[in-house]
Amino acid sequence: MEGCKYVTAEIYEKVRAYREEFHRYPERAWTEYRTSWRIAKRLRQLGFEVFVGEDVCGVNARMGVPSPEWLRPYEERARDEGMPPDILEKMRGGHTGVVGVLRGCLEESKKRAPVVAFRFDIDALPITEEQTAYNAQYRSIYDGVMHACGHDGHAAVGLGVAEVLSRYRMEWRGEVRLIFQPAEEGCHGAAAIVEKGWLDGVDTLLSGHIGIGCRHLGEISACTKGFLATTKLDFYFRGKSAHAGKAPEKGRNALLSAARFTVDAYGLVDGRDDVKLNVGKFVSGSGRNIIAADAHLEAETRGITQLKNHELREKMIEVARRAGQLYGVSVDVEIIGEAGTAGSSPGLVKRCSACAANMGIAGMFQEEADFGASEDVTIMMERVQSQGGEAAFFMFGTPLKAEHHHGAFDFDEEVLEIMTEFYVRFLLG
Ligand SMILES: [Zn+2]
Ligand SMILES: [Zn+2]
Repeated sequence: MEGCKYVTAEIYEKVRAYREEFHRYPERAWTEYRTSWRIAKRLRQLGFEVFVGEDVCGVNARMGVPSPEWLRPYEERARDEGMPPDILEKMRGGHTGVVGVLRGCLEESKKRAPVVAFRFDIDALPITEEQTAYNAQYRSIYDGVMHACGHDGHAAVGLGVAEVLSRYRMEWRGEVRLIFQPAEEGCHGAAAIVEKGWLDGVDTLLSGHIGIGCRHLGEISACTKGFLATTKLDFYFRGKSAHAGKAPEKGRNALLSAARFTVDAYGLVDGRDDVKLNVGKFVSGSGRNIIAADAHLEAETRGITQLKNHELREKMIEVARRAGQLYGVSVDVEIIGEAGTAGSSPGLVKRCSACAANMGIAGMFQEEADFGASEDVTIMMERVQSQGGEAAFFMFGTPLKAEHHHGAFDFDEEVLEIMTEFYVRFLLG
């Protein structure tokens, strides 16, 4: 692209190569071992101070982490693919993600040097990638897992930003934190990075997503509204099995109790458009003639404000407990994901519009846009804003081969060049 001064053809080639590699080896939430290793390795080569393993996420603040047994095959696979044992040992048990820190060498005033954080999500989805003409070179080699949201691109842009900032280190001042966040899908990861303190002391946080509401190359829109606060919950109903013909009264019917809960829960949002809830998965019972002893439900709540979402979440849990009591069934609830509603800081968005102007695409920069979905980066944004810092989240336009979360999803790689250039210009002008 013409307006790219820092992202040269050579750097753009590298960013594309990173993206294609991440795309070929997609990893789901908390299994991003190979991805994290590759990122950490490159950051080290570029002179960053690199943090991995328990230094990235607050261990107990991670949500929805699968069991060690479930994770093990993914760890072994990463090892078989060349991940060195020392770094694998640090990440075992779902301690994925990377943070890279670099300080600029420009000294121009006595003012406190600013801390600027960039956040890139790196996880993939449980989707089988379709065989298409355009992805023959880099189609996913892991069956049933695919980068179908563009996080492969985000991770590649993160490394592109690292390349440029390391090369031009004499021309910027302050501290840069590149946060490569695991487990965005399902909103599992951001809170744990906040809990570890990576957003503390941050003056500026920049993040973004390719595609979503923007479909033209060069289009950059700041998301100021439309983030829905959300909570992801798992419900476990535990009763007792019994012979359904001979002595059903000796059982405790978990299926019936969970079904009652499901119906009553939807009643909480009847006729409301400020909140939403969904029970998206319901697994129960073991056979036709057996009173079902357990039920596992995957559910979520959403709200236009965090308060409304929290109120709905609490009411939903209350409805579950009541349904449990009614049938003598125990109910456990596990909160496995959360996102907030923070919008972009207007002052920061204004300053970022200069980056677009310097790239010659001022006409395609939009200062106010609706995101219309949930993103756990909002938890990081809230932390930065609550401490007096500024945060912004942008959508970067690209035509899409298919919608996000679809097996034929793909984007125009030129968006990666634009995104990288836009980010580095925040520091380099
Ligand atoms: Zn997604
Ligand atoms: Zn996404």
